[in-house]
Amino acid sequence: MSIPLRVLIVEDSEDDTAFLLRELRRGGYEPAYERVQTLEAMKAAMDRKPWDIIVSDYMMPQFSGLDALKLVREKGLDLPFIIVSATIGEDVAIAAMKTGAHDCIMKYNLKRLSPAVERELREARMRREHAKAEAMIQHMAFYDTLTDLPNRNMIYNRLQDAIGIDGGQGKPMALFVMDLDRFREINDTLGHRRGDFLLRQVGERLQKAMWERDIIARLGGDEFAVLMPRLTQSEDIHVVVRKILSALEAPFPVEDIPIAVEVSLGIALYPEHGTDADTLFQRADIAMYVAKKEGLGHAVYRSDQDRHNPRKLALISELRHAIEHDELVLYYQPTISLKTNRVIGVEALVRWQHPNRGMVPPDQFIGPAEQTGLIHPLTRWVMEAAMRQCREWRRAGVDITASVNLSARNLLDPKLFDRVTELLRVSGGSADWMRLEITESAVMAEPIRAMEVLLRLHETGFRFSIDDFGTGYSSLAYLKKLPVDTIKIERSFVINMPKNANDEVIVRSTVELAHNLGLNVVAEGVENKDVWDRLSAIGCDEAQGYYMGRPLPAVELARWFNESPWGFGKNEPSGRT
Ligand code: C2E
Ligand code: CA
Ligand code: CA
Repeated sequence: MSIPLRVLIVEDSEDDTAFLLRELRRGGYEPAYERVQTLEAMKAAMDRKPWDIIVSDYMMPQFSGLDALKLVREKGLDLPFIIVSATIGEDVAIAAMKTGAHDCIMKYNLKRLSPAVERELREARMRREHAKAEAMIQHMAFYDTLTDLPNRNMIYNRLQDAIGIDGGQGKPMALFVMDLDRFREINDTLGHRRGDFLLRQVGERLQKAMWERDIIARLGGDEFAVLMPRLTQSEDIHVVVRKILSALEAPFPVEDIPIAVEVSLGIALYPEHGTDADTLFQRADIAMYVAKKEGLGHAVYRSDQDRHNPRKLALISELRHAIEHDELVLYYQPTISLKTNRVIGVEALVRWQHPNRGMVPPDQFIGPAEQTGLIHPLTRWVMEAAMRQCREWRRAGVDITASVNLSARNLLDPKLFDRVTELLRVSGGSADWMRLEITESAVMAEPIRAMEVLLRLHETGFRFSIDDFGTGYSSLAYLKKLPVDTIKIERSFVINMPKNANDEVIVRSTVELAHNLGLNVVAEGVENKDVWDRLSAIGCDEAQGYYMGRPLPAVELARWFNESPWGFGKNEPSGRT
């Protein structure tokens, strides 16, 4: 079966054209071609329809291969361009390739043509896929996948930009943060699919209700935000509140069941309540918390509300106590090589063994710890515990690295470097037992300072991974500048691979792009064999997830090492089939 090929032939000789076509047919192609021999004719042909490839002579009476190449580039097309010539010397061939020709073939050596066509088509396809994936990754960094509204990054940046533009003049702006009351119940009773549908409709109604210049974002879960970057005199804040509430008032038809939704709205005003994006978000959050707690529907921030947050305050003081009294514990989740099917590392994940509340997951206390500076002693505790554990493993002959998560605040801590080197000295441990996980947004928060710390730690022997890749700025180009050798793909992409073709493309392209940059790739969130197999086919290097092993306390992990098919035991990895 021959492959259709739309080939534009730039050639003055009919005989040579016939040779070319014969060669292509012999190579398995069915060429739909057009022959041109002047610049005008080529222009016209290119405007008329799309081409897969251009095959061009080098020297023609009225035209030259280089001019043809120039035309393609002027049109901004990434079209494979192959020069076929009888007269061209090697130096000219090299010059032509430097100007952008993809290959040069001598007429006496025409049998090279079809393989070259095949290779160039494949590479062009890959370039297109990569470009598409990069655009998609970019989009995802700033838009919410469920509603396609701007996400937290985007609205945060817009708020910062708007503050920059205002430049201290103090023209008022308003930030609304809201969440749906009892959304979890709705989700649990109606199911995620209907819950998602409801969230999309909430987004749509908000968008309809607000002005075009206002920014409506989904912050995550059932949280939305609205930024009004220009608040005119007539737009009294209470009028806007009524507008938002009435937009959401009518019940939402979810598969014919009318669902009433109530929201709690927190409002922070610029410049009154803050002159930077962080403060404004924090204060809108506090106001929302008050609105929710007191069943007010909405609340504008007031400074005395800060103290109003007793739950958070209690948590903070308890956490300080917990760090000092060893109520924290580390769980370790294995990372498996997709090449050898064996465990090669673990990620240390902290939990809080609370005397009354039971096991508290990190999502509930890392954020508050970051906001209050408690993250510093917490990270120190984690690194010490992980280092101690590594030493025990080495003693037992277990040769694996432990990854530890660093927060953005850690990277900006001027004492971090000294603390870490001190830890190495006291514990007698070695930097290469450990790997440090950082996120792109942590680095981007203050790139220069962060880079400095990373480089110094790197010199000491620490290696770095980029965590949650795909949720941040995702600039692989920028990553090249960092002393990073591994990226970990955010688990939501991995989890959704079987259901969502987009996610699979993103994972595959991320792996390819990372490999091109010489980076190692870990996929997180591998929950079943299907995903494992897909990752393995894609060529991903390592995997982490519930399918192979959940995070476990060290004692239970030792048993996993012995018993799991991915562990150190003698059993062949057969448990996976
Ligand atoms: P992370 O760094 O992305 O850690 C991976 C999280 O994914 C862990 O949640 C892990 O239990 C979960 N996970 C692993 N495999 C699967 C899977 O197959 N499916 C699903 N659905 N989830 C999986 P965990 O332990 O609750 O940690 C949550 C986050 O808390 C971490 O996300 C990390 O950002 C933060 N964290 C945990 N420990 C520390 C720490 O010591 N320091 C700092 N700064 N942050 C930490
Ligand atoms: Ca991590
Ligand atoms: Ca992660």
